[in-house]
Amino acid sequence: MIRLTNIQVPLDHDDQALTNAILTRLDITADDLISHEVHRRGYDARKKTNIVLIYTLDVETRCNDALLEKFAENHLVKVTPDMSYKYVAQAPANLQERPVIIGFGPCGLLAGLVLAQMGYNPIILDRGKEVRERTKDTFGFWRKKILNTESNVQFGEGGAGTFSDGKLYSQVKDPKHYGHKVLVEFVAAGAPDEIMYVSKPHIGTFRLVSMVEKMRAQIIALGGEIRFSARVDDVQIDDGQITGVVLADGEVIKSRHIGLAIGHSARDTFQMLYDKNVYIEAKPFSVGFRIEHQQSAIDEARFGSNAGNPILGAADYKLVHHCKSGRSVYSFCMCPGGTVVAATSEEHRVVTNGMSQYSRAERNANSAIVVGIDPSDYPGNPLAGIDFQRQLESNAYVLGGSNYDAPAQKVGDFLKGLSSETIGSVEPSFKPGIKLTDLSKALPDFCIEALREAIPVFNRKIKGFALEDAILTGVETRTSAPICIKRDQNFQSINTHGLFPAGEGAGYAGGIMSAAIDGIKIAEAMALSINESVK
Ligand code: FAD
Repeated sequence: MIRLTNIQVPLDHDDQALTNAILTRLDITADDLISHEVHRRGYDARKKTNIVLIYTLDVETRCNDALLEKFAENHLVKVTPDMSYKYVAQAPANLQERPVIIGFGPCGLLAGLVLAQMGYNPIILDRGKEVRERTKDTFGFWRKKILNTESNVQFGEGGAGTFSDGKLYSQVKDPKHYGHKVLVEFVAAGAPDEIMYVSKPHIGTFRLVSMVEKMRAQIIALGGEIRFSARVDDVQIDDGQITGVVLADGEVIKSRHIGLAIGHSARDTFQMLYDKNVYIEAKPFSVGFRIEHQQSAIDEARFGSNAGNPILGAADYKLVHHCKSGRSVYSFCMCPGGTVVAATSEEHRVVTNGMSQYSRAERNANSAIVVGIDPSDYPGNPLAGIDFQRQLESNAYVLGGSNYDAPAQKVGDFLKGLSSETIGSVEPSFKPGIKLTDLSKALPDFCIEALREAIPVFNRKIKGFALEDAILTGVETRTSAPICIKRDQNFQSINTHGLFPAGEGAGYAGGIMSAAIDGIKIAEAMALSINESVK
C-alpha cells in the first residue's frame, strides 16, 4: 500500500472529500483507486474558525509501483511500512530458569506479555492487589480517607496509570513500531478500535480496569504466573550478577534475569537497591500544582464555535513557558473532562494527579502545571530528590488540614498573593476534599515565582487560563522518578548483570505508552540474554 501523510480536509468533510484528496495528491482517476484506510487522524485547531482534520491514509491503487516511483522525492508519499511485531526469540526447549518481572504496571504488563508470548513463562510480582480489589481500596481512600499503602493509585495491578485519563500518546522515537504492538494488544483486550488511528488516543479509567484483567488472563494462559501482594524487599546479588529476589514474607525466588518495572513511587525499593549498590543517578523532575477550569471554557478557547463537535471531543492543551530565571513551566498530564485525584502512596502526605473516563464528560478540565527541578536544587545523595518530594508532600498534608484534604487556592488569589476564602465558578473536583489556603507556602519560592510568571503568559495562549476562579490544588510531585537506574546497551544495570531496569521508575519512560514500549524492549533483551546463557 501507499502511505499518504498530511492530507488536510475541513472538519465537516464528507466521505468523498478524502477520496478527492487522494486523487488530487496522486494525480490519478477514481478508476485507479481500489481502497483506502485511515492510519491516523488528527486536527489542527490553530485557527478556530478554520479547524482542519489531518489524515495519514494507506491507499491501494492499480498502479502502486509506478506511483511510488513517480513520487520518490515526495516525503508525503511513501510505501506503507510493515508495522507488524516480529518476536526476536523463542524460549529454548531446555528453558532452565523463568525470568522474573517486578511490577505489573504498563511496563511490567507488556514485558510479561511479550515474554509469555515467546514462551518464557515469566513470573510477575506486584506489591499491590489485583485490580478489582485495588479499585475498592483506591476509591475507599478517595471517599473515606482510609489509605492502604500497598494498594492505591500508585500500587497494584495495572500500575500507576490504571486510574487515569489513559492517554496513550508518547513522543518517544519508535522506529520499530513497538507502540503499534502495544495498541494492538490493548484493542485485543477491549480498548476502543479508534485508539489505532486517532492522533491522541485515550481509554479512560473503567475500560483500563477490564483490559488489565484480560491481559492478565492471557499471560497466565500462555504459561506466565502473576502474584499479587508480593512485594520485593530485597535482591540477591552475587559478584555483580543478580541471582534472585526476596519477597516481604521471606520467600526467595531465584532467577538470573529480573526485569525491574517498579514505577516512580517505589521509594522503599529504590532505597533497597541503592543500599545494595545498584548504580543509581539523580535526574531532573518537576513539581507544581493541578489547575482546574470549566471544560466548556477550554473548549471555547480552543475550538470557538466548533466547541462540542464530537470529532474534536473535549479540548486539551499543551503549554510551556521558559521563565526569566531559566526555569521551564509546562502543563503535564492534561485531563479533559476529568477530576483531580489523591495520588499518595504514603501516609500523611498529599499528592495530586488527574484522571477521567473514556467519555471525558466531567465538568472540569485539569492539568498539572509544573516547574522543572534539577538535582542541583537539592543537595545530597542520588536519592535526595525523594526527600525533596516527600517534604513537599508532607507540607501539603499539613496545609490541607492534616486529614488528606489538599490545599487549594483560586488562581486570582494566587497571583495576587492572597489566601483564598471562598470558591467561585470553578468547583474543585479533588476527592476527598480541599482546604482553601495560601499555596505560596506549598512550594519553594523559585517555583512560586515561576508559576506566577507563567500563568499570565498561558492566559495569552488559552483565553481564561488565568481566570480569577480557576482552582489550583497541590501538590503535584510524582511527575516522574527523581532517579535513573542506569542501564547499558543490553538494557542491563551498568553494575548489576541480569537486572533490567525499565519504565518510569528506572527513568526510561514517562507515561503509559512509553512505559509499555520500554517493557517490550526489556522483554526482548531478557529473552536474548536467556537464550545466550543456555547456548
Ligand atoms: P507503574 O505503572 O508505576 O507500575 C509499577 C508497579 O510496580 C506498580 O503496580 C507497583 O505496585 C509495583 N511495585 C513497585 N514496587 C514494587 C516492589 N518492590 N515489589 C513488587 N511490585 C512493586 N500516563 C499516561 O501516559 N497517560 C495518562 O493519562 C496518565 N494519567 C495518570 C494518572 C494518574 C492518577 C497517575 C498516578 C499516573 C498517570 N500517568 C499517565 C502516568 C503513568 O501511569 C505512568 O507513566 C506509568 O504507569 C508508568 O508505568 P510503569 O509500568 O513504569 O510503572
